[in-house]
Amino acid sequence: MQNIIRKSYLESVRRNRAAGPSPLLLSRRGGTIMNSMRQAIRLEADAVVVGTGPGGASVGRELAKAGKKVIFVERGRHPERVGNHLSMIKYVDRAGLVYSEEGLNVVRALATGGSTLVFTATACRPPSWLKDKYGIDITYEVNETEEELKLAPLPDELLGPANLRLMSCANELGYEWEPFKKFIDPQKCEQGCSDCILGCKRGAKWTAADYIAEAVRHGAILMNRVRVREAIIEDGRAVGIKGKNAQGTPVEIRGRWVIISAGGMGTPEILQRSGVPEAGQGFFCDPLRMVYGTPRDKGIGTASAPQMSVGTYEHHVEDGYILSPIIEPLFLFGASVGMRKVTALPQWVNYKSILGIMVKIKDDMGGRIDLDGKFSKPLSYDDRLKLDKGTRVAEKILEKAGCEVNDIFYSVDRGAHPGGTAPIGKVVDDNLQTPVENLYVCDASVIPEPWGLPPVLTCIGFGKRLARHLLATKN
Ligand SMILES: Cc1cc2nc3c(=O)[nH]c(=O)nc-3n(C[C@H](O)[C@H](O)[C@H](O)COP(=O)(O)OP(=O)(O)OC[C@H]3O[C@@H](n4cnc5c(N)ncnc54)[C@H](O)[C@@H]3O)c2cc1C
Repeated sequence: MQNIIRKSYLESVRRNRAAGPSPLLLSRRGGTIMNSMRQAIRLEADAVVVGTGPGGASVGRELAKAGKKVIFVERGRHPERVGNHLSMIKYVDRAGLVYSEEGLNVVRALATGGSTLVFTATACRPPSWLKDKYGIDITYEVNETEEELKLAPLPDELLGPANLRLMSCANELGYEWEPFKKFIDPQKCEQGCSDCILGCKRGAKWTAADYIAEAVRHGAILMNRVRVREAIIEDGRAVGIKGKNAQGTPVEIRGRWVIISAGGMGTPEILQRSGVPEAGQGFFCDPLRMVYGTPRDKGIGTASAPQMSVGTYEHHVEDGYILSPIIEPLFLFGASVGMRKVTALPQWVNYKSILGIMVKIKDDMGGRIDLDGKFSKPLSYDDRLKLDKGTRVAEKILEKAGCEVNDIFYSVDRGAHPGGTAPIGKVVDDNLQTPVENLYVCDASVIPEPWGLPPVLTCIGFGKRLARHLLATKN
């Protein structure tokens, strides 16, 4: 993929030389288009897409496949050598140490592919209310993606003993656990591996970077390490974006379509600076808590199982939470359980045998995104109630799996799916256009209500739908 991207850079250099502006140099490290003279970099395209997560990658890929000239502008680096703890720290925003004013940790990746670089690769169809209440029907796009990427549950031998054990205990208790569909190619996946969250070094996990690579093969350009600040608005219409690259060189890209896909936390900052102050006023982040126990037989634990590969959505509508086995990566695990309760820290020695169940909730829309990475996200009384309710069920399942109920311990609560910061019906219309003409949003920001589900498949659906809409417009 790196070669394809480099070729595409060279092509863009050639085109820009032909067009006359100052010479652009290709970074030897292959990351960024640079201008050694510090003169502004100016480019033009049919579509400028800010952010390369599943929303941006999907819309850009469709437009590129239709022959449109697409430029992706990505704040983060292009990932190399993933699959270890260091790589995760390198590509996650501020090494994962991002906290709300109230002290809630929220995790997101800044890299080609956005948070799919570190996602656990679980695919979940959007809830029916998106169509019934908001008229956003992405059934066709979701079906198409399921077929295209062959989304399916993993076979039992890859699910592994810990997942199968927790699933059968839950079902014996009368719950309805099942294997989840995954963005994973079972042919490339390895038994006993749980490294999705560190970035998959085997290439078994689909990430949005795969869509970017495909778009680049169709002529799109990817610019890494360019942080977009705002849209360029002329006569009330968005005509491009401006920002700076890692060397501080101003970057200005004009496009027939301007699409902001900088994610639930990145998009509202750009919108606020672009004349859409209502963005980022209230959002969800699907807070989660891990519930851990060590079974008496000290068998194979969740650390040797693909994460979030079985579980249940059965409590989602009524009680606002979902359950699925996950254990945090080793370095995070120690910090997380120790911060919750220091006496749980010695459990570290049992890491390989520990069974973990994640409780993830549908939190109330609250808080706000400020400029420059600051944000507020209070957990409401109801949010805490949902976390506690899910925790009680997880404890029962762990007890059934042979864990001593008094020895059960917990991670800190944190958020991992920020969204709803430019909701459909409030900030964007049902074609994902903001009040500023030609300024579109395509990512988890547009989700209009509390969510509490894996959002990637929905973001892909939004991207494909927006591309179809744009290609059908005449302007
Ligand atoms: C640990 C973890 C596990 C997860 N597991 C799952 C899962 O199993 N299934 C699932 O469906 N979801 C999962 N998610 C959530 C999912 O990854 C995100 O919700 C999804 O990636 C959001 O997509 P997006 O398009 O909104 O933006 P993002 O993926 O957040 O991408 C936005 C991109 O925009 C870039 N950007 C931001 N600001 C700027 C700027 N100013 N200029 C230029 N670029 C900018 C960022 O660098 C980033 O690359 C997980 C998330 C995490 C953190």
